[in-house]
Amino acid sequence: MRAARLTAVQAPGATPRDVLEVVEVPDLSPGPGEVLLRVGAAGVCATELHFLDGLLPAPRFPVTLGHEVAGTVEAVGDGVARWDVGDRVAVHYLHSCGDCRPCRTGRENTCAAPAGMLGFASDGGFAEQLVVPARSLARVPEGLDLTSAAPVTCSVTTALHAAAVGDVRADQVVVVYGTGGVGLALVQVLRRRGARVLAVARSQARRDAATDLGAEWVVDPADGDVGAQVQELTGGADLVVDLVGTQATADAALAALAPGGALLYVGYSHESVTLSPLQLVVGEHRVLTAVSCTLAELELGLDLVARGEVRVLLDRVAPLEELPDVLAALAAGDVVGRAVVVP
Ligand SMILES: [Zn+2]
Ligand SMILES: [Zn+2]
Repeated sequence: MRAARLTAVQAPGATPRDVLEVVEVPDLSPGPGEVLLRVGAAGVCATELHFLDGLLPAPRFPVTLGHEVAGTVEAVGDGVARWDVGDRVAVHYLHSCGDCRPCRTGRENTCAAPAGMLGFASDGGFAEQLVVPARSLARVPEGLDLTSAAPVTCSVTTALHAAAVGDVRADQVVVVYGTGGVGLALVQVLRRRGARVLAVARSQARRDAATDLGAEWVVDPADGDVGAQVQELTGGADLVVDLVGTQATADAALAALAPGGALLYVGYSHESVTLSPLQLVVGEHRVLTAVSCTLAELELGLDLVARGEVRVLLDRVAPLEELPDVLAALAAGDVVGRAVVVP
């Protein structure tokens, strides 16, 4: 089978094409409790860029990235009763164990002993085949195509989890700071909760997309101080979801908060961030974080998209060989919504 392999961290001045190669690798077969998938589509996420730039350490080289996968069951291993050949499924990319304390207490997204982590610790979905634990699958509802289902596994699910962590209520003002695939899903998830949404985006195309998906206000950082713009438009935010994770976004986020408002980290960067305890205490601000999602959130996300309650914006659907070009476009900010590769 063919797989797109990352061979090294991308050196300064290099391009994704310099570190990715599509090669023939041995076919896979499922072990006990596992399922072999024919990958139907794999979403291309900003997280991939962090493996290329070295912020996230690759488990080894070469490695196959790609954690947003939907496909068709091609074979099942011993002891797998729930899935049959031909079933259309999406992968819960953190293969939680179901047995550790986090898993038993509803925090499987922070599983202490995962069986694998697709495209992070184990080989991912930028390949024709994939083997995953049978318990890490969700059924793709009828009528939802695999190209739309794939990015749900990370974009919509991360948004659902973040909104749950933020405990977002109707009429609250929430800032979505960063409008990639997760941000645009988050705009919609927040609207479903009845929140009033302000989206921050540098590109006009992304601001337009955010407006189209339900943002009441959009702010361009180029128009000046983001915190002041948010205060002027909304009177202060109850929650800022930072999908960028830099000192500049932290400063703007804190300046944007209403008294009692919270800063929720979902994104991260190479930067460390300094926060003033004085500023936090005086405003009684909380700092929260949200990572990944639960299997139940994946099932909910697929259902919402299948029913048309949340839209997945597909920027482009490309063959595996074009993955380097897709990653270059993503790095340049030229992708609106999600790009998907079809191996
Ligand atoms: Zn992702
Ligand atoms: Zn666990």
